[in-house]
Amino acid sequence: MTLSDTQRKIIESSIRDIKDFPKKGIVFKDITTLLNNKEAYSILMEHLYIRYKEYDLDYIAGIDARGFIFGASLAQMLKIGFVPIRKKGKLPSETISEKYSLEYGFDEIEIHKDAFHNTNAKVLVIDDLIATGGTANAAVKLINKAGANCVEACFIIGLTFLDGIKNLENTTKVYNIVEVD
Ligand code: AMP
Repeated sequence: MTLSDTQRKIIESSIRDIKDFPKKGIVFKDITTLLNNKEAYSILMEHLYIRYKEYDLDYIAGIDARGFIFGASLAQMLKIGFVPIRKKGKLPSETISEKYSLEYGFDEIEIHKDAFHNTNAKVLVIDDLIATGGTANAAVKLINKAGANCVEACFIIGLTFLDGIKNLENTTKVYNIVEVD
């Protein structure tokens, strides 16, 4: 099901812009106002369900922390497993980790080594937003290193004025619900 213009607008207008958060010059896209809007949240999840039920996925991998909300909801709707990709130091068992660059310095995310039960499992990775693409790119690498196959990366919001989407498209398919230019 493709979203109608009206449905896309309902989702888009439910996302709140917070200027200068967490630091000056950043416009933070706040999805808490999408989640507490029952119409917007259910249009979004229904759309994701209809799109991804055709994919024959084995798992959804969600990126810490807002990717957990959409990812876990969708996995339950599709009756498949959910795998968290977490910030360093949070996962209790044996992990694989991947560093990625930030504006200043670097960050690191991890996945459990045994997160996927079947080799070559078909995985969708999901997060709330793609900006520079550093986080998502590291997440795709982790999924593939854990022996699975990342078939698509899905974001509620894609910032198209940055190169993140273009760069990630070299590695996997990318699907954004709302694009901000
Ligand atoms: P990046 O690695 O630069 O693509 O950043 C993506 C990650 O940072 C996602 O997990 C987002 O939740 C968060 N993020 C980056 N920029 C924003 C923004 N403008 N508003 C909300 N979240 C953001």
